[in-house]
Amino acid sequence: MTEPLKILYVTSEAAPLVKTGGLADVSYALPRALRAMGHDCRVAMPAYGIIPESSWGEQVAPCTAHMDVTLHGAIRRSVLPGADVPLYLLEHNAYFGRTHPYGDYGHEYPDSLERFCFFCLALLDGVPRTGWVPDIVHCHDWHTAAIPAFIKTRCIDHPVWANKPTIFTIHNMAYQGRYSSTLMPKTGLGWELFTPRYLEYYGDINLMKAGLIFASKINTVSVTYSKEIQTDVAGHGLDGVLRTRTKDIVGIANGVDTATWNPAIDKRIPANFHSTDTSGKKVCKAELQKTLELPVTDAPVFGMVTRLVWDKGIDLLLSCLDDLLRRNVQLVVLGSGDDVFENALKQAEARFPGKMRVQLGYDETLAHQIYAGSDFYLMPSRTEPCGLSQMYAMLYGSIPVVHRTGGLADTVFDASTANVAGNKATGFVFASWSERAFQNMIARALKLYEEPEKLAALRRAAMSQDFSWERSANEYVNLFREAIAQP
Ligand code: ADP
Repeated sequence: MTEPLKILYVTSEAAPLVKTGGLADVSYALPRALRAMGHDCRVAMPAYGIIPESSWGEQVAPCTAHMDVTLHGAIRRSVLPGADVPLYLLEHNAYFGRTHPYGDYGHEYPDSLERFCFFCLALLDGVPRTGWVPDIVHCHDWHTAAIPAFIKTRCIDHPVWANKPTIFTIHNMAYQGRYSSTLMPKTGLGWELFTPRYLEYYGDINLMKAGLIFASKINTVSVTYSKEIQTDVAGHGLDGVLRTRTKDIVGIANGVDTATWNPAIDKRIPANFHSTDTSGKKVCKAELQKTLELPVTDAPVFGMVTRLVWDKGIDLLLSCLDDLLRRNVQLVVLGSGDDVFENALKQAEARFPGKMRVQLGYDETLAHQIYAGSDFYLMPSRTEPCGLSQMYAMLYGSIPVVHRTGGLADTVFDASTANVAGNKATGFVFASWSERAFQNMIARALKLYEEPEKLAALRRAAMSQDFSWERSANEYVNLFREAIAQP
């Protein structure tokens, strides 16, 4: 029998405590799935001020990080609520005792680089003091990318960390942790690393680059995205660096935590339903319309729950809005993000009273209600590393209309004649990212809406998809073992 692994899972957010996007959902579900397989996976993240006091746990170890100055913090031991996953919280009130993990009012905190580099180095100091030593460190996105660099440089003779294998998981290439070179002393990494071979990137510091160069293995969250990031389609300027590591890069699709995202048992929605009896979905639709003060009619409801940012293709939505809303439809958008998109959507809402509702902000309950109450789900993302929303939409019987990119290409199967005949179809997929292609796809969706039997069949197929974490968690374990064999 193969030995269970000890995995330190380091992240900047984890549901249900701190969530700004899909990373938080993954950081709840994957550690849970790994523990269910018998592995000792523990999550580490900063002790943000927004974490309820009841989840702070006891201080179990002090920690120190020698940055440009020496800083002290503490490790608290807690547990991820609702999941049997031990949680280490890195406490440092000045850095993390704030109202948001990354920044207020859409503006990043100016000391992000030093906050997260401190988090990484202090964690490496503190975790062994708790008496637990992992076999592998699993890092996520640029906030934790300094860890592989510290392990391969400053910790080269460390009794615990020397040669410790690391995995760097890319959840989104668009966010790289790029900062002015003048901040190099704040990273805790030496100036000798500020060269094009390591952290330097067009004169700036690029922390993600550190993760890509120093990690034992790299993965991203879908197979298609793992290929796209090695090209200019989604490499965001680091495709060249990624190509130097091709043999160490794999794609492992995210799954869905089906205890949280299951319309048959979800307590956040007004009526439960499942693939063989969707009558509850009608109730959810009517309640959603009432909640959002839209007329309760049979018009098809299109839903979106999304960060309002460029990558999500909000500009494409905006350019197709008038065409869409001139028809007999309703559109519901829940999101927050860039001011320009928030304002433009609010203006559109005013132009189409009774047809469109835009809820700005973050609302977990309304998100579940939109997946449950909408007929179609729009996701015109320019690029999409994996995407969880389209999977939630499918499981809740909201047919996704998506751009064929990244994880959307891997998880949604177009309602083409062949796919429908083979009972494989689960949504509408447009290949070229253009107004025309998006509008054509919406027109196809609306045509289907007029054919209730076909719509029901497609909905059943979408709701029956298996997105459980088990398979992906197994792939992670294989990757961990490969990295341990060759750190
Ligand atoms: P990303 O991680 O790029 O934001 P994903 O589709 O992978 O995109 O995951 C987004 C997650 O965040 C989903 O769980 C979605 O429901 C949730 N989400 C996004 N915006 C909001 C919001 N404004 N309110 C509630 N949930 C949101």
